[in-house]
Amino acid sequence: MPAAIVDSPRGGLQAKPRPYLSVVIPVYNEEASLAALFARLYPALDQLTLAYECIFVDDGSHDRSVALLRAQQQARPQETRVILFQSNFGQHAAILAGFERAMGEAIVTLDADLQNPPEEIGRLVAAIQAGHDYVGTIRRGRQDHFARRWMSSLINGLRARTTHIRITDQGCMLRAYARAVVAAVNASREVNTFIPALAYLYARNPTEIEVAHEARTAGQSKYSFYKLIRLNFDLMTGFTLVPLQLFSMLGMIISGLSGVLVVILAVRRLWIGSEVEGVFTLFALNFFFIGIALFGVGLIGEYVGRTYEQVRGRPRYLIAAVLEEGAEALPPAERAREAERADARAVTRV
Ligand code: UDP
Ligand code: MG
Repeated sequence: MPAAIVDSPRGGLQAKPRPYLSVVIPVYNEEASLAALFARLYPALDQLTLAYECIFVDDGSHDRSVALLRAQQQARPQETRVILFQSNFGQHAAILAGFERAMGEAIVTLDADLQNPPEEIGRLVAAIQAGHDYVGTIRRGRQDHFARRWMSSLINGLRARTTHIRITDQGCMLRAYARAVVAAVNASREVNTFIPALAYLYARNPTEIEVAHEARTAGQSKYSFYKLIRLNFDLMTGFTLVPLQLFSMLGMIISGLSGVLVVILAVRRLWIGSEVEGVFTLFALNFFFIGIALFGVGLIGEYVGRTYEQVRGRPRYLIAAVLEEGAEALPPAERAREAERADARAVTRV
């Protein structure tokens, strides 16, 4: 197994075995779930008898998550790294930050809320070891609200029809990627992205397995209906231009039909004389087409806005601190100050 050279806490360099498995976990206000997560995740990974690291990315939490992550990092320093964001940049940005620092050959993403059981990670790793470079998952008996399931299946269907991405259940974030796929994701500088779909583009030998799914037992979903819509727009606009093309097609068809209508109306005008009936039908048609036009403008806006965000090239996230073994090479006084700063940030955000 290759060895990575890291600064040892006592100064000087020493060889640390490079982990085979990196588990990347975004955390946003998950104080209620973290203790249970640690209690299940580490034993599940210990059982695999391979070198691993857990990378927790705190996405600007303003509850006690940072303190809990810090304590866990101290309890299991060999296997734990914690990245603290300055503020909330979103789940996918958090995963990207984890990807950029992951050292494993196999990289697994997992939610912090235990909806995806960590005990399933072994099966994902086995699929990577069998030669797959992308292991997707399908949630068996999905435990989410009806409206969420309905929306997922709608977007799943739309995505399947308009892109080349073949994912049965795009919403499940418990997934495994080979190092090469993660490297390609890291090289893509996309601002708004949807990681399972992006990674799929770079996979050579993808597969899917079924995993268990549990209801959220602690804390609340961090996705409001509005955030979910935004995320699904990221998915649709990031991977296909079909919505725009449909609009040009629709525009062409409607213009064609309107041309025919104009001719018919002109002939009727000459034949029958002026007619004033059907005003309400006219209103209805008008509103209908104005609605379509506004939707089209909004859709173009979604693409233009994303293009704008991309060309501005602002950083996708800002890191306030990284808590890891190597970081302990900082002098103790500096380390204490850094810890205080991170704690103060956690408190001031309340
Ligand atoms: N999350 C995050 N930043 C956000 C929203 C969510 O890091 O802005 C994390 C959250 O802590 C959890 C994961 O992303 O670990 C999935 O979030 P959640 O369980 O709320 O989503 P759902 O299961 O409802 O889709
Ligand atoms: Mg969840």
